[in-house]
Amino acid sequence: MMAAITAAGNGHDVIVCEKNEKPGKKLYITGKGRCNLTNAVDAEGMLRSVMSNPRFLYSAVSGFDSFDTMRFFEGLGLELKVERGGRVFPQSDKSSDVISCLEREMRRRKVTLMLNTEVVSVEAKDGTFSCVVLQDGRRLYADACVIATGGMSYPLTGSTGDGYRFAAALGHTVTDRYPSLVGVRVKEDFVRELEGLSLKNIELHLKEAVQPYTAPGEGVIPKKHSSSKKKDVFSAFGELVFTSDGMSGPVVLSASSYIGPLLAKKPLILSLDLKPALSEEQLDARILRDFDEMKNRQYKNALEHLLPQKLIGVIIRLSEIEPDKRVNLVTKDERRRLASLLKNLTFHVESLRDFKEAVITKGGVKVSEIVPSTMESKLVSRLYFAGEVMDLDALTGGYNLQIAWSTARAAGLAIE
Ligand SMILES: Cc1cc2nc3c(=O)[nH]c(=O)nc-3n(C[C@H](O)[C@H](O)[C@H](O)COP(=O)(O)OP(=O)(O)OC[C@H]3O[C@@H](n4cnc5c(N)ncnc54)[C@H](O)[C@@H]3O)c2cc1C
Repeated sequence: MMAAITAAGNGHDVIVCEKNEKPGKKLYITGKGRCNLTNAVDAEGMLRSVMSNPRFLYSAVSGFDSFDTMRFFEGLGLELKVERGGRVFPQSDKSSDVISCLEREMRRRKVTLMLNTEVVSVEAKDGTFSCVVLQDGRRLYADACVIATGGMSYPLTGSTGDGYRFAAALGHTVTDRYPSLVGVRVKEDFVRELEGLSLKNIELHLKEAVQPYTAPGEGVIPKKHSSSKKKDVFSAFGELVFTSDGMSGPVVLSASSYIGPLLAKKPLILSLDLKPALSEEQLDARILRDFDEMKNRQYKNALEHLLPQKLIGVIIRLSEIEPDKRVNLVTKDERRRLASLLKNLTFHVESLRDFKEAVITKGGVKVSEIVPSTMESKLVSRLYFAGEVMDLDALTGGYNLQIAWSTARAAGLAIE
């Protein structure tokens, strides 16, 4: 829609083929129905949040940055507001208002929106775009074509990865694709007991596993909560929530951006620091103080000031301290083990959750085969790309839609 509005603004006759019965189905569900349409940062700030190929985006984002996006929508009469972390939303909190704006502008610019119109292939002749073929067999010939079919996450919205197929058939390389900004499954069974527990103010560390996961009872039992000596691949402070087979929530979604390609090569662990404000020594001192205050209690009844109820049983088991032991009998070594466990509660990553739950797709049409300033294919002239169909993705915060706006703008402007 952004590419169509831009090209139509330059005097072109534009047709948008949309296979759904209405446009913007994915936009509708963005930002939990509120549409976090961009982030109020400059181009440099925006590119710092781009995970794949930020350099490729430099030209498009400098040409149409977040503030241009805000001016564009405000110019169409959409009032905006900026929330925590620079996230920009419509004042109305309704993603449908963003879609209405785009639809209105397409009508004003006389863009023909063909709904229930599925493209089944994109054809080229002598290295130049020729036509798109529709499902009913019709061919639409045009001077140029922008492939803006999105990724393959939440396929019910219409983004089913068709563009990868079109691009590959025209000779483009499509890189491996992974679900991203998505929850993670872990191997530890005890995670089931934690389902629904939300932890705030924790630190999450993603690392390579030092040793592979061994299920309890299967050969050597690894030191489950020993701190990995490997360097962090990623770490973040914030909030997470446990699910029936893993975890999700903001810090986990960010970590998921790194997991797909890495997990294909090596085992990974997620280690949680439940008490990031305290060093291990300070935490040990705090536990000692707690235990002193309740010296006649059993260990199993002495953790309530330290941990949420749902975690207590799990921590008691993992610490391997006798639950009925009176806390004044807990040894220094045992106490240190507990402190170390609270600083390094370790989970082995089983897999990412599926595409159907992923906010975005990592991977896509290889960007070295696309001209960064125009989004034109280097292999097929007059063929352009915009948005998530390319090997571009970013963290949450409005950056993924900004990638779509900036690249669509560049493509729309480049069409002669
Ligand atoms: C739950 C969820 C929440 C999100 N929230 C945010 C957010 O708040 N902020 C943010 O920045 N990003 C968010 N994203 C990511 C963002 O929605 C996408 O990155 C963005 O929509 C990509 O835009 P696009 O135009 O490239 O593709 P899409 O928005 O996926 O649009 C592609 C369109 O092409 C159509 N299409 C596909 N194939 C064909 C075909 N063969 N023929 C005809 N039509 C076809 C589809 O029906 C679809 O309408 C969210 C994603 C999800 C799933």
